[in-house]
Amino acid sequence: MEPKKVWESYSAKQLKECEVYNKDYRDFLDNAKTERECVDVIVNMVEKSGYVELSEKIKANKGLKKGDKVYAVNMNKSIVLFNIGSTKLAEGMNILGAHIDSPRMDVKANPLYEDSSIAYLDTHYYGGVKKYQWVTIPLALHGVVVKKDGTTIELAVGEDEDDPVFFVSDLLIHLAQEQMEKKAAKVIEGEALDIIVGNKPLVVKAKKGEEEKKEKDPVKAMVLKILADDYGIEEEDFLSAELEVVPAGKAREAGFDRSMILAYGHDDRVCAFASLFAFLQCKDVERTACCILVDKEEIGSVGATGMTSLFFENVIADLVNLEGKYSDLTVRKCLANSCMLSSDVNAGFDPSYASVFEKKNSSFLGAGMVFCKFTGARGKSGSNDANAEYIAYLRKTLDDANVIYQISELGKVDAGGGGTIAYIMAKYGMNVIDAGVAVLNMHAPFEAVSKADTYETMRGYMAFLNAKGM
Ligand code: MN
Ligand code: MN
Repeated sequence: MEPKKVWESYSAKQLKECEVYNKDYRDFLDNAKTERECVDVIVNMVEKSGYVELSEKIKANKGLKKGDKVYAVNMNKSIVLFNIGSTKLAEGMNILGAHIDSPRMDVKANPLYEDSSIAYLDTHYYGGVKKYQWVTIPLALHGVVVKKDGTTIELAVGEDEDDPVFFVSDLLIHLAQEQMEKKAAKVIEGEALDIIVGNKPLVVKAKKGEEEKKEKDPVKAMVLKILADDYGIEEEDFLSAELEVVPAGKAREAGFDRSMILAYGHDDRVCAFASLFAFLQCKDVERTACCILVDKEEIGSVGATGMTSLFFENVIADLVNLEGKYSDLTVRKCLANSCMLSSDVNAGFDPSYASVFEKKNSSFLGAGMVFCKFTGARGKSGSNDANAEYIAYLRKTLDDANVIYQISELGKVDAGGGGTIAYIMAKYGMNVIDAGVAVLNMHAPFEAVSKADTYETMRGYMAFLNAKGM
């Protein structure tokens, strides 16, 4: 089967809508480079759309009715939203789930040091990265520092044109004979990913009659002085900080034809944004619509803010309770009767690396939303392996809405693999399949997607949310 082409299928009106959508998406990328920033931006968006916090809804004690719009935030790093439908929760929901964490470097708890008059922040990379890609590019520092008294200092340095940026050095080619012989995994090792943050010493002029006080690490002292003066941060405060080092700069249109977007963090904000956008477009839904955007997918969905946490289930329990009559059975029925799209990216076919793909079962840029049954390695392990019945239902749903989609595997058999949140939701017994956007150079500092796919995927999500269930 030849993949269908999205661009050719669009009317002038659709092309325009596609551009408007992608401009919104680029703005989102520029304002939401970390999971915390994503949640902040999203809460602002949904509050404007009339969503109220679940805790407020519970306090109001007026139950839950069709058309209610509620959301709940988990530890500032994940969020779940509901648009309550006319059917009972026990009949299940239509769920879109994406992740809002992306590969990056995290600043260690004891990070700051000086060597040879250069000040560094030591980092530990997060998620799967080709470490050699992260050197010599401008980097920004985003995150929070929480003081012992509970006050939170938010940081985002390196994004404004006037901001300084940071970087990891690499060995000059002239002296790299030995380095160039190394395997790619060893060319830049994890502990070499320390970012350079200063080179100017602090000079404290001695007062009259006093002896000049020499700092042991004057460049580090200068950095600490700036952190104290500008942000009120002391060295010990790094202990309770979450500082993420990400590529600096904005999302850019790519190609003479501006058909693509090159940006940091498409995985998985391209699906998170599409999910949210589609979700907010839904007006009167029959089945309750749900959009869940979680943290920690890139490191195995662990932790209190990852998909394996009971947060989602607890929120459903709250909803069932609000609906009128709490029972464990109703919670289980609601989950088991739900349909889900695990909204995550797929490996777009790359002609430069054709040997790792099996072309008939690959996803292509510009060919629409991608369904993926097999993301895993070694004989489909860790994949969703969605049922034929469910896929048939999705085919019908998307065809009826004139959405262009493709079905792909993540690379050829035994070439490697990846994971998503699909298997975690599948544990409830609900139908789930991975569905999202094809990406080139996934997990690189800058990834590429086709604007046609971002828009078409959003349209696919919208059709899914409005469907009547299986
Ligand atoms: Mn992903
Ligand atoms: Mn990923």
